[in-house]
Amino acid sequence: MHSTDSHIESECQTLDGMSARQFFEQGTGYTYDDFILLPGHIDFSADEVSLETQITRRIKLKTPLVSSPMDTVTEADMAINMALQGGIGIIHYNNAIEEQQDEVSKVKRFKNGFINSPLTLKPSNTIRDIDKIKEKFNFSGVPITETGAMGSKLLGMVTNRDIDFIQDRDLPLSEVMTRELIVAKEGCTLEEANQILKESKKGKLPIVNEKYEIVALISRNDLKKNRDFPLASKDNVDKRLLAGAAIGTRPEDKERLAALVEAGLDLVVLDSSQGDSIYQIKMIEYIKSNYDHLEVIGGNIVTANQARNLIQAGVDGLRIGMGVGSICTTQEVMACGRPQATAVYKTALYAQEYGVPIVADGGISTIGHIIKALSLGASTVMMGSMLAGTEEAPGEYFYQDGIRLKKYRGMGSLEAMKKGSAKRYFSEGDKIRVAQGVSGAVVDKGSIQRFLPYLVQGIKHGLQDLGSRSVKDLHHRLYAGQLGFEMRTHAAQVEGGVHNLHSYEKTFV
Ligand code: NAD
Ligand code: IMP
Repeated sequence: MHSTDSHIESECQTLDGMSARQFFEQGTGYTYDDFILLPGHIDFSADEVSLETQITRRIKLKTPLVSSPMDTVTEADMAINMALQGGIGIIHYNNAIEEQQDEVSKVKRFKNGFINSPLTLKPSNTIRDIDKIKEKFNFSGVPITETGAMGSKLLGMVTNRDIDFIQDRDLPLSEVMTRELIVAKEGCTLEEANQILKESKKGKLPIVNEKYEIVALISRNDLKKNRDFPLASKDNVDKRLLAGAAIGTRPEDKERLAALVEAGLDLVVLDSSQGDSIYQIKMIEYIKSNYDHLEVIGGNIVTANQARNLIQAGVDGLRIGMGVGSICTTQEVMACGRPQATAVYKTALYAQEYGVPIVADGGISTIGHIIKALSLGASTVMMGSMLAGTEEAPGEYFYQDGIRLKKYRGMGSLEAMKKGSAKRYFSEGDKIRVAQGVSGAVVDKGSIQRFLPYLVQGIKHGLQDLGSRSVKDLHHRLYAGQLGFEMRTHAAQVEGGVHNLHSYEKTFV
């Protein structure tokens, strides 16, 4: 293995516990729950902790959090909200090229305060359709367009006032919609739109292009709660939100990539359970020689040998984790993988010598796991199940046994493969499907707009307890042997959880 002695100057400068090197050289594969970190000295407040980090060689984030490229986790809504709060979302590719391109484009076109994909209806829809929208999404004020879609000619608006006292809910919207509209022109600023809304006293303001086709909508309610996002992840060119997306390593993925780059993609993730393949190496070389500005994350990998091959091919970041996702059956089915703490430590130790940041992917179910991943050398953490129950994840909520849930499934589950990823899983002619994931459900976590700040604050407190003011400092102390690690026995793990209570409630935010 590559020598890192220059970084690990003196073995174990901790006064107590083991250094990471001592701990992980015992030859056993450990996961996050197997160890505990010993506290450091606090001489600063949690608010002073900086979570600034690199996700790739050139892309910096203010928040070390990434959402997984899974079809029940990341589409535009998730990606926009992750980026607004300083992280990044990786848009999945279990869809047609144009669909994924559209999601990337929504992220790049996002303007704070503008709704780029409002629900629209056509004149032949009925009042009952508006009632359904109101019941499901709790809003009214629906633009009516020629085809019923965005980007089509705006014909009118239907608001509560147009339909409140009408008995016949089967009346077509053409008979009730308001046709005289106050609109704003595409390209107007949020301040200009705000002014028009104030003067017109309307609830909604459609934004139209020169052909009078609707391109966005502004809502008075949204403006009222409109916030600034000082941590937002933006590109350096025109300060638009950062967009990431995943692709595969098949020849047809080159065509997909071209479409995503056209939509403004900043970061591509090569999405494989075993990333150390000739297919991935060829794809990395292709991207590096064809797309100058684009950052590439390779993976997934779990060993230093695998890291070496992808770093030599030119990756800008590495995604770590094999068989540890909450929906994953890979280790059971393929007999391959590695417990996540060891995987993160070993790969990060190797990759940091080359300035290649690590994304710790999968197996995160608590804030403590995030802090442990960062303490092992990860620069960012990728999550699926933690985020799948939020409002911004694709899919609708449903109730089971009185609990509000959302679907969450592995991309290698039979269900996801049936939807689109099947062709990736099988070589031509393969007839038998071997699933590597399951399909299930996770509980409602509310909006990511509240959940992410909660995670961020928790991480800051964790770093404070460790005595580190920043992720950078944490990594420095890790490699200097100054972070104290200790194994947890089974009894210690029980002791470290809630115990001896008759009943209790765990709440998030
Ligand atoms: P994949 O597309 O990388 O691999 C599927 C199969 O296609 C493999 O046998 C691979 O060798 C082969 N293949 C890839 N490129 C090829 C090419 N150019 N020519 C010929 N064969 C080629 O996908 P995967 O590894 O099966 O993963 C699918 C999805 O499931 C991804 O979203 C992945 O993240 C997820 N997954 C993740 C894990 C994990 O532990 N992180 C485990 C299982 C699945
Ligand atoms: P989680 O955060 O523990 O839910 O894990 C999410 C991660 O699991 C993803 O980022 C992928 O790396 C991985 N993953 C996604 N789909 C599958 C699958 O079908 N089988 C195994 N792993 C998967």
